[in-house]
Amino acid sequence: MLIGCPKEIKPQEFRVGVTPAAAAEAVAHGHQLLVQTGAGIGSGFTDADYLAAGAEIAPDAKAVFDAAEMIVKVKEPQAVERAMLREGQVLFTYLHLAPDPDQTRDLLNSGVTAIAYETVTDRAGGLPLLAPMSEVAGKLAPQVGAWTLQKANGGRGVLMGGVPGVGPARVVVIGGGVVGTHAARVAAGMGADVVVMDRSLPRMRYLDDTFGDSFKTQFASGANIAEQIALADMVVGAVLIPGAAAPKLISRAQLSTMKPGSVLVDVAIDQGGCFETSHATTHQDPIYEVDGILHYCVANMPGAVARTSTIALGNATMPFLLALADKGWRQAVLDDPHLRAGLSTHQGRLTSLPVGEALQLEA
Ligand code: NAD
Repeated sequence: MLIGCPKEIKPQEFRVGVTPAAAAEAVAHGHQLLVQTGAGIGSGFTDADYLAAGAEIAPDAKAVFDAAEMIVKVKEPQAVERAMLREGQVLFTYLHLAPDPDQTRDLLNSGVTAIAYETVTDRAGGLPLLAPMSEVAGKLAPQVGAWTLQKANGGRGVLMGGVPGVGPARVVVIGGGVVGTHAARVAAGMGADVVVMDRSLPRMRYLDDTFGDSFKTQFASGANIAEQIALADMVVGAVLIPGAAAPKLISRAQLSTMKPGSVLVDVAIDQGGCFETSHATTHQDPIYEVDGILHYCVANMPGAVARTSTIALGNATMPFLLALADKGWRQAVLDDPHLRAGLSTHQGRLTSLPVGEALQLEA
């Protein structure tokens, strides 16, 4: 199969859909890889790296879209990219169609067979192509929060781990899933005093069994959250209710109960944010202040560490990519119900029930 990998064009997107390692595996399986010149540069991969892996370099996106039987990307195709898709072609990337009627309409009109990373499932009921980015965002959260806590950035001027004779920062993580667990591990590793709050008792049992005393857990009732945030130097918002907007767990009025200069890191901002005062920010201008409390609400946190994120995503997508290329998309999704869960559009028909429900279209 001829697999095409264009350069990402969404602003501030430095990841790339195919790593040289994945390219080499695909070539070893007898496939052809066509990579747009400069596609990997934001993640530290040069054209020479792809050539060494056996790929070919295309001069522009059009050459990739025209030639490829399957397009592999990171972000949803932008309007100019959607105009280049066609029936008979497979698109394998993040799509996030439910809140995006324009993209859905264009994909249906193109006739492309689109498979969304974010709805591919695994045996444990998880989302294996979403999890790596949650791991990255979770590990980044205390790192960016610690930077925001520094005085020059408007923070309280508190050091995460403290020093002998001076206590550490107190970090409250709300939501103990993939993001929350990774955030708690890093914050605890930096020496902070960490509590993870969740509403799932099985999840808190798992955290307690697995991580022991490295951080505490507490049920995320409204009263407990109110009590904890008043003590916190940093609060990480990491909740998810699948398919729904994030619940607002800290109101604007509650900010006055927090210590001035403390920090909210709202990782759930891509689902609307879990603090009332959150609004999405960018890597260029990541923090703002409301009532003396600093907010970090970057919606694409993994982009800050594009190389790590690209490699993590590439590791997760590779087996699916190879299955699609080796068997053809039809046999691959017939053989694997988890990959089939990613199938979103085909020949002008919507094949995802949740997207159909969200957009009130027939699926
Ligand atoms: P997850 O499903 O693994 O974990 C979510 C956790 O939230 C679960 O343990 C659940 O029990 C808990 N929860 C749900 N409602 C709650 C409530 N009211 N109070 C307390 N806990 C509650 O999800 P995840 O992969 O960790 O993702 C968390 C969020 O981070 C999602 O919104 C995801 O989209 C977002 N995310 C953002 C970025 C970014 O760049 N900003 C990157 C990756 C993920």
